[in-house]
Amino acid sequence: MRYADRMGQLGTETAFEVLAKARALEAKGRSIVHLEIGEPDFDTPAAIRAAAVRALDEGFTHYGPSAGLPEVREAIASFIAKDRKLAVTPDQVVVTPGGKPILTFAIMAIVNPGDEVIVPDPGFPIYESVVRFLGAKPVPLTLREEKGFRFGAADLESLLTPRTRMVVLNSPHNPTGSVLTPKDLDEIAGLLRDRDLFVLSDEIYSKILYDGVHESIATRPGMAEKTILLDGFSKTYAMTGWRLGYGVMPVWMAEAVNKLMVNSNSCTASFTQRAGLAALTGPQDDVDRMVAEFRRRRDAFVAGLNTLPGFQCALPPGAFYAFPNVKGTGRPSRELADALLQEAGVACLNGGAFGSYGEGYLRFSTANSIENLLEAVERMRGYLTATSKPSK
Ligand code: PLP
Repeated sequence: MRYADRMGQLGTETAFEVLAKARALEAKGRSIVHLEIGEPDFDTPAAIRAAAVRALDEGFTHYGPSAGLPEVREAIASFIAKDRKLAVTPDQVVVTPGGKPILTFAIMAIVNPGDEVIVPDPGFPIYESVVRFLGAKPVPLTLREEKGFRFGAADLESLLTPRTRMVVLNSPHNPTGSVLTPKDLDEIAGLLRDRDLFVLSDEIYSKILYDGVHESIATRPGMAEKTILLDGFSKTYAMTGWRLGYGVMPVWMAEAVNKLMVNSNSCTASFTQRAGLAALTGPQDDVDRMVAEFRRRRDAFVAGLNTLPGFQCALPPGAFYAFPNVKGTGRPSRELADALLQEAGVACLNGGAFGSYGEGYLRFSTANSIENLLEAVERMRGYLTATSKPSK
């Protein structure tokens, strides 16, 4: 017996692999500070949990429509209309188990073998994995540190070819925490507006923003017709394990994505959707509190990282990651990430796992307490000063 050939093209998320290694070390009695996994450590707010329990008692335990419960699609359309200032109708919304399926379905619905898809480098590794799986070609768009890991039309233009079928944007960005400015979005939209391609705008971190207001490229003239907006509940409401996300797209595309839902999941869990409804329509104070705490952690942790020999890190304007440049340690980032786990008990990710430009960087998730983040800094200091001959 053997796998189908296409399985060789599928990548993975290193975060889950490092988590497994870290847990194995813990099982042997080692103490590990977990900064590898990209999920809020907060509990899902009580009102959302209560709504799920109510929904179970009310019988939301059956199949529902594959594109989502009508009241939930409606609430998402109203939320996006208000939050993004974008005219959206419920038939443009598809609810999925997490935001991730939207990414996969969007690429499946749009991209033919041999087509090109522009993906950020560094970037969320699943974009490239799915593009390859479908026999298409990922084209890396380098996000440079000196540009704050942002990009503009000039960076993108040189990568566009007649085979480009999709451009993936992710702002706020995993793994760097960068945020495209309104001017960046204007420029990028101006370049893409008249081309025969789609934009997948992954806005899963839309609410984890430390300055300004999140904007979607879909609001720019001519872009709503060619954008699939991905968002969800995992990061905003600390609901990673509930598996609840959605896409907003042109109606004809929503019909295609719905078909993919029928063929894969049938529908998203009904009681989970009812919890999502409560999340969107209830008070948002818990979100504000979580973001304020992420900001405190970011400030303290990045300040700590910048005291480490060979580390350099700018303050990320969004998401809950720090992405320091560690080239000054003189060590390949994969080797350093491994050593920090094995020797210092700090679990983080090699930047190279996010694309070739990520080599020389590490990704830390700040989804841990300030005490643990600062403990991680001290553990790393101990290890680095004992083992390295840094340049600073
Ligand atoms: N997009 C990005 C950039 C992410 O970092 C993640 C999760 O880590 C997702 C999408 C998927 O989120 P979800 O848990 O809603 O499937």
